[in-house]
Amino acid sequence: MNLAVWVERHGRLQPYGPALADGERVHADWRTFAARTAGAGRGLRDTFGLAPGDRVAIVMRNRPEYLEALFAIWHAGLVAVPVNSRLHRDEIAYIVEHSGSAVVVTDVEHGDDVESLVGTVGSLQAAVIAPGERWDRLTATAPAKLADRQAHDPAWLFYTSGTTGRPKGATLTNRNLIMASLSYFADIDHVTAQDSILHAAPLSHGSGLYGLPHIARGAVTVVPHSGGVDGEEIAALLQRWPGMSFFAAPTMIKRLAGDRAITDADLSNLKTIIYGGAPMYLTGLEEALTIFGPRLAQIYGQGETPMTITALSKADHADRDHPRWRERLQSVGIARTDVEVRVVDDDDRELPLGEIGEVVVRGDVVMAGYWNQPDATAEALRGGWLHTGDVGSFDTDGYLTLRDRSKDLIISGGMNIYPREVEEELLRHPGVRAAAVIGRPDSEWGEAVVAFIVAAEGVAAPGVEDLDRTCLESIARFKRPKEYRFVETLPTNNYGKVLKRELRDQLRTEGSEADPT
Ligand code: AMP
Repeated sequence: MNLAVWVERHGRLQPYGPALADGERVHADWRTFAARTAGAGRGLRDTFGLAPGDRVAIVMRNRPEYLEALFAIWHAGLVAVPVNSRLHRDEIAYIVEHSGSAVVVTDVEHGDDVESLVGTVGSLQAAVIAPGERWDRLTATAPAKLADRQAHDPAWLFYTSGTTGRPKGATLTNRNLIMASLSYFADIDHVTAQDSILHAAPLSHGSGLYGLPHIARGAVTVVPHSGGVDGEEIAALLQRWPGMSFFAAPTMIKRLAGDRAITDADLSNLKTIIYGGAPMYLTGLEEALTIFGPRLAQIYGQGETPMTITALSKADHADRDHPRWRERLQSVGIARTDVEVRVVDDDDRELPLGEIGEVVVRGDVVMAGYWNQPDATAEALRGGWLHTGDVGSFDTDGYLTLRDRSKDLIISGGMNIYPREVEEELLRHPGVRAAAVIGRPDSEWGEAVVAFIVAAEGVAAPGVEDLDRTCLESIARFKRPKEYRFVETLPTNNYGKVLKRELRDQLRTEGSEADPT
């Protein structure tokens, strides 16, 4: 099945209903959305000589054209590669090259960076800026018929930061995305054509995935002008668009719950807030429930099983009289309808309830594998189960609580940062002998990046600005350490492996001494 059939269908069913909105303004009704995607699909194929299965990347901040590009790519039977638009040019270049993208649809903010890659990186032949004259020409092409796509054909290459520092492309098929969408209806919410989905978080990640069930049901997709989470703007958009849902990282929910613009606003049009992607701490959650009422649903997932492993439903959030209500709020909920979830030991044996081990998942939503990385695929999918790298335990009722991440992933402001990629940058500096990067709990960002540095002997000790500059040369700004600590040595085990847990404990002890609550 071709996912673009949803757009085509609503183009007939409700031609004049709003499909895409730019803030309060309607950007396209369904008829226009359907015509533009069908046109651009053909335009992309004919202009650049593309065939079904070829990859087209999207490097764009949130805007209505993002959805046009995504569905045009699918209409033509091509594979979308949505790239986090906040990445550094070199990181974008890696993904474009690794995915073998032939074209990038981008926006004017990223136009120069992307254009500089054309002809020099992989098989990239063109950058198309949207909105823009070339995009208008493509969308105005005489439409082609929907391309035939099978359930197992790739639809979305979801690039996640890898533990090795290089991102891996989780290959999401049509079946994966359809299952994720149906599972939304089964476990999170029902959606109607009178509803709206607000994209306040990047469309290249969870927000984009959760946009799909809304498109399937003909709800309006609303993109805020700020492209992010802004209390005043959300409060205004709530007055304009009924039945509104949005996806946000826990840190964003916490920020909104403390924002006067939101606490003073009429929230009757707010339907559901889906949060997830990182741990949500109890105090913040109780506060959010007071402000938003029973409109919160939590999801736990990862790109490899597109945001679908477990969920804590709106009903669970609202069930204050349950004896284990607080305990449940600290969990990530129960297994989603379309998956089996287990907790296993190091030899992949299922552990009894209550015991802590790695979370593994099986079902039709789980990725086909990592794009062009058979070894990493075999490792992640060994025994037919996706190994998440997350560590947790089930209670007797089937609620899963995450304890830690077996990978060293840092999640700051909802963005994933793997320490290794920052460490590699720091080690490029001649004044750095050793570096270890970890996350420190942070009330605003969830976690903040802290770098422990051992200075090289015989050269001048590096300055903070100097280290910052080294990082910014090739990694995104949000990955740069918020704090540098200069130390004589790093704690290591017998094999010389740095014991990050000790560094984490050190920061945690300091934190609790500073704030005894
Ligand atoms: P990504 O593939 O970028 O979405 O990152 C997925 C990772 O985010 C998971 O493997 C978890 O470590 C973490 N994560 C996702 N959802 C939750 C949640 N609800 N609570 C805690 N951690 C989460």
